[in-house]
Amino acid sequence: MKENGRKQGATSPCAACKLLRRRCAQDCVFAPYFPADEPQKFANVHKVFGASNVNKMLQELPEHQRGDAVSSMVYEANARVRDPVYGCVGAISSLQQQIDLLQTQLAIAQAEVVHMRMRQTASMSSLAVNSNNNVSPSSKLTTPHTKSFFSMDIDGESLWSC
Ligand SMILES: [Zn+2]
Repeated sequence: MKENGRKQGATSPCAACKLLRRRCAQDCVFAPYFPADEPQKFANVHKVFGASNVNKMLQELPEHQRGDAVSSMVYEANARVRDPVYGCVGAISSLQQQIDLLQTQLAIAQAEVVHMRMRQTASMSSLAVNSNNNVSPSSKLTTPHTKSFFSMDIDGESLWSC
Protein backbone atom coordinates (compact mmCIF):
# COMPACT_ATOMS: atom_id res chain seq x y z
CA MET A 1 0.00 0.00 0.00
CA LYS A 2 2.73 2.45 1.04
CA GLU A 3 4.91 1.41 -1.92
CA ASN A 4 2.09 2.08 -4.38
CA GLY A 5 1.64 5.52 -2.90
CA ARG A 6 5.31 6.38 -3.33
CA LYS A 7 5.49 5.14 -6.91
CA GLN A 8 2.30 6.74 -8.02
CA GLY A 9 4.01 8.59 -10.88
CA ALA A 10 5.75 5.55 -12.42
CA THR A 11 4.02 2.25 -13.23
CA SER A 12 4.77 -0.20 -10.41
CA PRO A 13 6.23 -3.37 -11.95
CA CYS A 14 4.43 -6.72 -11.75
CA ALA A 15 6.03 -9.55 -9.76
CA ALA A 16 7.63 -10.96 -12.93
CA CYS A 17 9.22 -7.74 -14.11
CA LYS A 18 10.36 -6.97 -10.59
CA LEU A 19 12.17 -10.31 -10.33
CA LEU A 20 13.60 -10.00 -13.85
CA ARG A 21 14.58 -6.39 -13.08
CA ARG A 22 13.06 -5.02 -16.22
CA ARG A 23 10.63 -2.25 -17.01
CA CYS A 24 7.00 -3.39 -16.78
CA ALA A 25 5.42 -2.26 -20.03
CA GLN A 26 1.78 -1.25 -20.27
CA ASP A 27 1.02 -4.40 -22.30
CA CYS A 28 3.19 -6.71 -20.11
CA VAL A 29 1.95 -10.29 -20.63
CA PHE A 30 2.73 -11.24 -17.01
CA ALA A 31 1.12 -8.26 -15.27
CA PRO A 32 -2.51 -9.51 -15.17
CA TYR A 33 -1.49 -12.86 -13.63
CA PHE A 34 1.51 -12.04 -11.46
CA PRO A 35 0.62 -9.08 -9.25
CA ALA A 36 3.39 -7.37 -7.29
CA ASP A 37 1.95 -8.53 -3.95
CA GLU A 38 2.48 -12.22 -4.83
CA PRO A 39 6.21 -12.43 -5.63
CA GLN A 40 6.53 -16.15 -4.78
CA LYS A 41 3.95 -17.07 -7.40
CA PHE A 42 6.24 -15.98 -10.22
CA ALA A 43 9.48 -17.00 -8.49
CA ASN A 44 8.58 -20.71 -8.58
CA VAL A 45 7.19 -20.56 -12.13
CA HIS A 46 10.38 -18.82 -13.29
CA LYS A 47 12.56 -21.35 -11.48
CA VAL A 48 10.80 -24.36 -13.03
CA PHE A 49 9.71 -23.17 -16.49
CA GLY A 50 11.86 -20.12 -17.14
CA ALA A 51 10.41 -16.66 -17.75
CA SER A 52 10.94 -16.71 -21.53
CA ASN A 53 9.15 -20.07 -21.89
CA VAL A 54 6.23 -18.82 -19.79
CA ASN A 55 6.14 -15.66 -21.89
CA LYS A 56 6.08 -17.72 -25.10
CA MET A 57 3.41 -20.10 -23.79
CA LEU A 58 1.15 -17.21 -22.75
CA GLN A 59 1.62 -15.38 -26.07
CA GLU A 60 0.53 -18.50 -27.96
CA LEU A 61 -2.74 -18.72 -26.03
CA PRO A 62 -5.91 -16.68 -26.47
CA GLU A 63 -6.31 -14.23 -23.61
CA HIS A 64 -9.32 -15.98 -22.05
CA GLN A 65 -7.23 -19.14 -21.49
CA ARG A 66 -4.13 -17.49 -20.06
CA GLY A 67 -5.49 -17.31 -16.50
CA ASP A 68 -6.07 -21.08 -16.42
CA ALA A 69 -2.67 -21.72 -18.00
CA VAL A 70 -1.00 -19.60 -15.31
CA SER A 71 -2.93 -21.40 -12.55
CA SER A 72 -1.82 -24.81 -13.82
CA MET A 73 1.80 -23.66 -14.26
CA VAL A 74 1.83 -22.24 -10.73
CA TYR A 75 0.43 -25.54 -9.42
CA GLU A 76 3.01 -27.58 -11.33
CA ALA A 77 5.87 -25.29 -10.34
CA ASN A 78 4.92 -25.34 -6.64
CA ALA A 79 4.66 -29.14 -6.73
CA ARG A 80 8.09 -29.39 -8.40
CA VAL A 81 9.64 -27.10 -5.76
CA ARG A 82 8.05 -29.16 -2.95
CA ASP A 83 8.97 -32.48 -4.53
CA PRO A 84 11.99 -32.13 -6.85
CA VAL A 85 11.86 -35.79 -7.88
CA TYR A 86 8.21 -36.37 -8.79
CA GLY A 87 6.64 -32.90 -8.86
CA CYS A 88 2.92 -33.03 -9.57
CA VAL A 89 3.36 -36.56 -10.95
CA GLY A 90 3.66 -37.60 -7.27
CA ALA A 91 0.11 -36.35 -6.66
CA ILE A 92 -1.16 -37.88 -9.91
CA SER A 93 0.29 -41.33 -9.18
CA SER A 94 -0.97 -41.34 -5.59
CA LEU A 95 -4.47 -40.47 -6.85
CA GLN A 96 -4.13 -43.16 -9.54
CA GLN A 97 -3.29 -45.70 -6.81
CA GLN A 98 -6.39 -44.61 -4.87
CA ILE A 99 -8.51 -45.08 -8.01
CA ASP A 100 -7.05 -48.57 -8.54
CA LEU A 101 -7.74 -49.50 -4.91
CA LEU A 102 -11.30 -48.15 -5.01
CA GLN A 103 -11.98 -49.92 -8.31
CA THR A 104 -10.82 -53.18 -6.75
CA GLN A 105 -13.07 -52.60 -3.73
CA LEU A 106 -15.96 -51.73 -6.04
CA ALA A 107 -15.43 -54.92 -8.07
CA ILE A 108 -15.42 -56.98 -4.84
CA ALA A 109 -18.61 -55.26 -3.64
CA GLN A 110 -20.30 -55.82 -7.01
CA ALA A 111 -19.28 -59.49 -6.95
CA GLU A 112 -20.79 -59.78 -3.45
CA VAL A 113 -24.03 -58.23 -4.67
CA VAL A 114 -24.20 -60.72 -7.56
CA HIS A 115 -23.45 -63.58 -5.17
CA MET A 116 -26.19 -62.46 -2.76
CA ARG A 117 -28.73 -62.00 -5.54
CA MET A 118 -27.98 -65.54 -6.73
CA ARG A 119 -28.43 -66.88 -3.19
CA GLN A 120 -31.64 -64.90 -2.83
CA THR A 121 -32.99 -66.24 -6.11
CA ALA A 122 -32.04 -69.77 -5.08
CA SER A 123 -33.78 -69.46 -1.69
CA MET A 124 -36.82 -67.86 -3.29
CA SER A 125 -37.14 -70.62 -5.88
CA SER A 126 -36.79 -73.26 -3.15
CA LEU A 127 -39.54 -71.42 -1.27
CA ALA A 128 -41.64 -71.48 -4.40
CA VAL A 129 -41.14 -75.24 -4.62
CA ASN A 130 -42.14 -75.56 -0.93
CA SER A 131 -45.15 -73.33 -1.41
CA ASN A 132 -46.27 -75.53 -4.25
CA ASN A 133 -46.32 -78.42 -1.82
CA ASN A 134 -47.79 -76.50 1.12
CA VAL A 135 -50.37 -73.73 1.33
CA SER A 136 -48.53 -70.64 -0.04
CA PRO A 137 -47.42 -68.50 2.97
CA SER A 138 -46.76 -64.95 1.66
CA SER A 139 -45.00 -63.94 4.94
CA LYS A 140 -42.28 -66.55 4.26
CA LEU A 141 -41.44 -64.84 0.96
CA THR A 142 -40.84 -61.39 2.49
CA THR A 143 -38.72 -62.53 5.45
CA PRO A 144 -35.58 -63.69 3.55
CA HIS A 145 -35.87 -60.70 1.21
CA THR A 146 -35.43 -58.03 3.93
CA LYS A 147 -32.81 -60.14 5.71
CA SER A 148 -30.52 -60.25 2.66
CA PHE A 149 -30.72 -56.49 2.22
CA PHE A 150 -29.57 -55.94 5.80
CA SER A 151 -26.60 -58.27 5.44
CA MET A 152 -25.62 -56.51 2.21
CA ASP A 153 -25.47 -53.15 4.00
CA ILE A 154 -23.25 -54.55 6.74
CA ASP A 155 -20.84 -56.09 4.22
CA GLY A 156 -20.72 -52.83 2.29
CA GLU A 157 -19.78 -50.86 5.38
CA SER A 158 -17.01 -53.23 6.41
CA LEU A 159 -15.52 -52.93 2.92
CA TRP A 160 -15.26 -49.16 3.06
CA SER A 161 -13.91 -48.99 6.56
CA CYS A 162 -10.81 -51.10 5.82
ZN1 LIG B 1 5.41 -6.84 -15.93
